[in-house]
Amino acid sequence: MYIWPVQPLQTQIVIVGAGPGGAAAALKLHALGIPCVLIDQAVFPRDKVCGDAISGKAATLLNRLDPEFMASFRERTDQQIGAWGIQFVAPNGTAVDIPFKFPYDKDREPAPGYVAKRLDFDQLLIEKVLSADSIQFHQGIRIEHYERTALGYRISNSDGTFIVDCTLLILADGANSGFARKEAGLEKDLRHHAGAVRAYFKNVEPLHPDNFIELHYLKEVNPGYFWIFPLPNGYANVGLGMRSDFIKKQKINLREVFLQTVKEHPLLAHRFSRATLESPVLGYGLPLGSRPRPISGDHYLLVGDAGHLIDPLTGEGIGNAIYSGFIAAEQAQKCLETDDYSASFLKAYDQRVARVLGSEMKLSYQLQRMLRYPWLTNTLANWISRHHWLVELISRMYTDLELRKQLVNPLFWGRVLKKLLFS
Ligand SMILES: Cc1cc2nc3c(=O)[nH]c(=O)nc-3n(C[C@H](O)[C@H](O)[C@H](O)COP(=O)(O)OP(=O)(O)OC[C@H]3O[C@@H](n4cnc5c(N)ncnc54)[C@H](O)[C@@H]3O)c2cc1C
Repeated sequence: MYIWPVQPLQTQIVIVGAGPGGAAAALKLHALGIPCVLIDQAVFPRDKVCGDAISGKAATLLNRLDPEFMASFRERTDQQIGAWGIQFVAPNGTAVDIPFKFPYDKDREPAPGYVAKRLDFDQLLIEKVLSADSIQFHQGIRIEHYERTALGYRISNSDGTFIVDCTLLILADGANSGFARKEAGLEKDLRHHAGAVRAYFKNVEPLHPDNFIELHYLKEVNPGYFWIFPLPNGYANVGLGMRSDFIKKQKINLREVFLQTVKEHPLLAHRFSRATLESPVLGYGLPLGSRPRPISGDHYLLVGDAGHLIDPLTGEGIGNAIYSGFIAAEQAQKCLETDDYSASFLKAYDQRVARVLGSEMKLSYQLQRMLRYPWLTNTLANWISRHHWLVELISRMYTDLELRKQLVNPLFWGRVLKKLLFS
């Protein structure tokens, strides 16, 4: 039997991966009136191992792109829960509640952050993608081969039944991106990478009345943290993450430490006494942005986790994936206008991403290293928990990066100590 050769699909822009980064790039291109092909190996709705916290940054960016999207997300109260702050718990058990906004009024304002299962959140983004006529979306296709051509790239699945030729390739295929590793040369660096596990529980008690997400800094998981993030209908996303070089050095089995923490940790186990485990404990990697990397080259751009853009302190990656997706779309527009897809022209993408995320990543990395000293974390938590003005000041740091930089300035803490001693 003669098998007809597959006719390659011809397009200018292809995005591989339809998670938050890829979907954001496609939706931004749509808003700019530029068609694209979007491909994902999964058929949606699909799960993604994550803590499910949707930060204020992610919510603000999506609201900027399409206020209706965020409005419909907020209406889905069975799928998302509004989060009003973060509870930081030091190794000695001292809890510090830092609201995202100070003061806040739950009855009058939309929540600054959310927690929503990625199964639901990503599906909502995909619904938006499906309603955009300029996005040609192919689900259930895993791209295995990338071949450089005279005009750009030819990509295909394993058996060659799906082939696309494009001039610009946007890789948003996540933490295990084959292209990022093999073609772009972004090897895994354990000092700038974290491993994490998460599971869904029901009836973890008590949860914060204003749905603060909880980060517990434990001596056993350092640098890293154990988290409890509330979800609707009595569920919670519970997990544990740690820097990969320490996991390796200390030969830590994250899944075991996680289950042991839930069962036996003196500060946490009682909260799980009536809780039921509602899912398997699943793990995944987090490529951290603490080491700046090249994220573009001839005819390609790396977005989100594929470009190692996760915050090294918080593990937040959804907001940065969306941000880089938007910037990639705007860069693609410039490429089309100038017909220039060269590595030197695409460097402008790296520079813009570095401008909007670079200082934040650097600061988060400094804070990650600072919090490695339990005595220091305990001391700071003790100070902050006793002084309302400090809580208010630190709350303002969520949105004011210049102010946040004070956290790693010894002079700032010196002034705080002076005020605590003499006021
Ligand atoms: C345990 C854990 C907890 C986390 N908690 C949080 C949190 O609470 N908040 C937060 O903001 N971030 C969190 N993160 C980080 C966050 O999950 C990622 O930063 C975010 O998902 C990045 O989005 P992305 O679009 O770059 O990649 P992804 O969301 O991973 O999407 C990549 C997409 O590419 C597709 N794909 C992959 N390979 C191929 C291929 N070869 N062909 C076709 N398609 C392909 C996949 O199916 C997937 O849909 C956490 C991560 C982990 C591991």
